[in-house]
Amino acid sequence: MRIHDILEQKVAKQPVAPALTDSLGFDWCYEILGHVVDELAQKLVDLGVKPTDRVLLVMENCAPAVATLLAVSKVGAVLIPFNARQTDKDLQRVIDHATPAAVLFTVSVSKEAKVHAEWAGAQDMCLAGLNGALFATSRATDPVEELSDVGAILYTTGTTGVPKGVMLTHDNLIFGGRVSCDVRKITAEDVLYGVLPMSHVFGLASVVVAALLGGASIRIEPRFAPANLYNALLKGVTLLSSVPQMLAQLMHYTREQGHEHLPIDSLRYVSSGAAPLDIDWKSKAEAFFGQPLQNGYGMTEASAGVCVTRHMGSNDDISVGQPFPGVQLKLDVQAPGGGGEVGEILIAGGGVMKGYFRNQEATAAAFTPDGWLRSGDLGRLDAQGNLHIMGRSKELIIHGGFNVYPPEVEAALNEHPQVIQCAVVGVTRDGDEKVCAFVEASPNDWPNEEDLHAYAQTQLTGYKRPWRIVVMEKLPAAATGKILKKDLPALIKE
Ligand code: ATP
Ligand code: MG
Repeated sequence: MRIHDILEQKVAKQPVAPALTDSLGFDWCYEILGHVVDELAQKLVDLGVKPTDRVLLVMENCAPAVATLLAVSKVGAVLIPFNARQTDKDLQRVIDHATPAAVLFTVSVSKEAKVHAEWAGAQDMCLAGLNGALFATSRATDPVEELSDVGAILYTTGTTGVPKGVMLTHDNLIFGGRVSCDVRKITAEDVLYGVLPMSHVFGLASVVVAALLGGASIRIEPRFAPANLYNALLKGVTLLSSVPQMLAQLMHYTREQGHEHLPIDSLRYVSSGAAPLDIDWKSKAEAFFGQPLQNGYGMTEASAGVCVTRHMGSNDDISVGQPFPGVQLKLDVQAPGGGGEVGEILIAGGGVMKGYFRNQEATAAAFTPDGWLRSGDLGRLDAQGNLHIMGRSKELIIHGGFNVYPPEVEAALNEHPQVIQCAVVGVTRDGDEKVCAFVEASPNDWPNEEDLHAYAQTQLTGYKRPWRIVVMEKLPAAATGKILKKDLPALIKE
């Protein structure tokens, strides 16, 4: 089964149910979505796309992008979604690595996609219903045996190094969507807010595929803007998947409108994922929405869903909960950064990738000899069996022989009223790793570094306290909003 088969089932079952609305003004029911996908699939065949060929989609979220990824699935090709906000250099690297048969660009929703399309010499695909929305280029390529069951290759965020191409099978993608659909009990009545980039596994599996499986509709947004989210919530979005930074901005915006809270009856589920959520933000968001905020943990290599909380009401548990049905977890306390009750999180189950595309070495390193996926994240399990993320093993700071877990230090500093968000990294000096904190603050409310040090003294045990605190206006972030920690140590001069 492929994701296109799910669409066909819905077209037969609920043809006039709403499927997608977007910022370009497209408003499609399932039947219309089915027609657009058929037309697009024919165009892909005309371009010479064959089964196992890679189709690269340089995109920002819009209805034509969703139709394209379904059309790629219909022709049995392998989707490579690429966030248009990345550079030409990033794009060239992916093209060289994946050798796609066609590259498509969502030009009407994204200035960046348009610039890439010009750079690549792409032409209008001339689709009847989608005038000027999609441009394409094509080239000859060879079929790749290894991809016969693969639905998509998703390049990782690149937080810890060069992005790797994760091969997800059709089954993996459907598994990722299925667990996310089931935990939220999605039905045709639901409206999902589709702002997480659909070029990333969270937007693709937990929003697009999950919505399809539930027969729900998606209100698509190409970029996050707090005002748009605020208005969408007032207009009846029922499910909101977010990253923590989005919630902070929404709360700020709402306050500017003169409201402290946003209790909306239609909104029935709010979740955060992809990056650490700290207790301070969580409790603020719960008061704001008047409902629990679920924290989900996942990764590209596991088709998004690994764990999620199932809170019935607000509480002060900052875990990521327990695994989705069909996912198994265990901790490797022998792994780097492990010890005591902390270990590297190992994952098995239906979402775990086939491997990294054209990278056997990285694939071998990603699995234990008995087939568990090494997440690269450190975790511990509490007495209730809930998982707590302690940061990436690569980012563990060993200071004076003690383990310092960056998320703990970040959570403490985030509680300071002048700190918008922060990132803690280790910097090696005199043979030891020092704790360095980078704090994002507003120019109108700039904290004094000494005050922050004094605050850290009241919140953290000695060895966890930052050696340096750097205040800045904006932390370096990837297109998904994730903080790029690897760029930070270089900012500490002496
Ligand atoms: P790369 O693998 O290229 O370095 P990346 O790991 O950031 O990039 P993704 O697959 O987008 O790429 O992100 C998955 C990672 O995000 C997880 O391994 C984990 O470190 C982090 N993460 C996801 N959800 C959470 C969460 N709820 N709390 C804390 N960290 C999270
Ligand atoms: Mg990763």
